[in-house]
Amino acid sequence: MTRWTLPLDRIPDAWFNVVPHLPKPPQPPLHPGTREPVGPDDLAPLFPTALIGQEVSAEPWIDVPGEVLDILRLWRPTPLHRAVRLERALGTPARIYYKDESVSPAGSHKPNTAVPQAFYNAQEGITRLTTETGAGQWGTALAFACAQFDLDLQVYMVRASFDQKPYRRVAMETWGGSVVASPVDDPDHPGSLGAAISDAVRDCAGRSDTHYALGSVLNHVLLHQTVIGLEAKEQLQLAGERLPDVVIASCGGGSNLGGVAFPFVPDPGVRLLAVEPMSCPTLTKGRFDYDFGDTAGLTPLLPMYTLGHDFVPPSIHAGGLRYHGDSPLISALVRDGRMEAVAYPQGRVFDAAVQFATVEGRIAAPECAHAIRATIDEALAAKETGEERVILFNYSGHGFLDLSAYDDHLHGRLPEEQG
Ligand SMILES: *Cc1c(COP(=O)(O)O)cnc(C)c1O
Repeated sequence: MTRWTLPLDRIPDAWFNVVPHLPKPPQPPLHPGTREPVGPDDLAPLFPTALIGQEVSAEPWIDVPGEVLDILRLWRPTPLHRAVRLERALGTPARIYYKDESVSPAGSHKPNTAVPQAFYNAQEGITRLTTETGAGQWGTALAFACAQFDLDLQVYMVRASFDQKPYRRVAMETWGGSVVASPVDDPDHPGSLGAAISDAVRDCAGRSDTHYALGSVLNHVLLHQTVIGLEAKEQLQLAGERLPDVVIASCGGGSNLGGVAFPFVPDPGVRLLAVEPMSCPTLTKGRFDYDFGDTAGLTPLLPMYTLGHDFVPPSIHAGGLRYHGDSPLISALVRDGRMEAVAYPQGRVFDAAVQFATVEGRIAAPECAHAIRATIDEALAAKETGEERVILFNYSGHGFLDLSAYDDHLHGRLPEEQG
């Protein structure tokens, strides 16, 4: 057996809240003007009440609405695979499992939160959402979700991607979204996620019919992603494993990592590993501090690892990992020693992605390839020590709209990075 599926009625009907399992209670976000903890009223212009409630909840489980389950059922539960061909190629005694989130309509894990976010906004009478997107994965996920609930969507897309990567824009437009290049007021600037967040928040601030939606970082986003880890836990049992020794995922804002890893936080023997690009090393080189989520300083201040809200990362191919900050929940776990973090240069990441594609067949998104790099290194370390390590990684998305990145790698056009 190399693939474990679950029946349609085994989609988790409650999300797992990691907050009661943290070593210390989380610090609150602060108001950007007063530096006092933000209250529900401060967030009400941006988010529906249900999501604000989830953002601050300490309940261990939160029910998934039936309307959300009906849409998740279009592709969930997702399969768990064992990468036996990769194990054989590496000659490792490790057993490598991966959760395949690339089978969603948008090709990544992001619809897991886009769907509930669109649902709660529609339920509150909101008719239009704004958001930012980097390479376009979050924008496509939200455009798909908005189409399910008849919501209008305005996407601010980082200009470098808008100009160079048209296909996700076309996908967003196919699902009915409107897409504009960001920053809107500076047509010569290549843009950044932080600047696109500023554009999206400004648009929504003046309108009562409009809310804002964020694809990562916030507590409610990571909460919605825990369906990944909950399903994986059940599937590993079917595969005859008790628990993994290590759970690995790429980390941009932390949502696919939180999704696969949080359900394992209460299991003390399970190591948790975040993988980030060396060119945007938030967890490995940033400082833990309060910082803005966006470039202009419009969002609340979040307690997180940050490179500074004015940090403009170099334009590497893993667009989804180019964010100056990180989820406060992930940041707290790293600070308190419950989670580890590692950074890789993109050349070594693509070497791993090509090896994986060669033996396992799948062409991964450049973000996801970071998790593959770390997985291969864990498996080689297990070979070194002769350990039967069980590795679970999250296959966060496919790379079919990122083939130009593979083209650059295969033809020696990736810039040299140290490491
Ligand atoms: C957006 C994205 C990521 C990074 O975002 P997180 O919030 O850190 O998960 C990773 N992989 C894929 C495929 C993505 O689309």
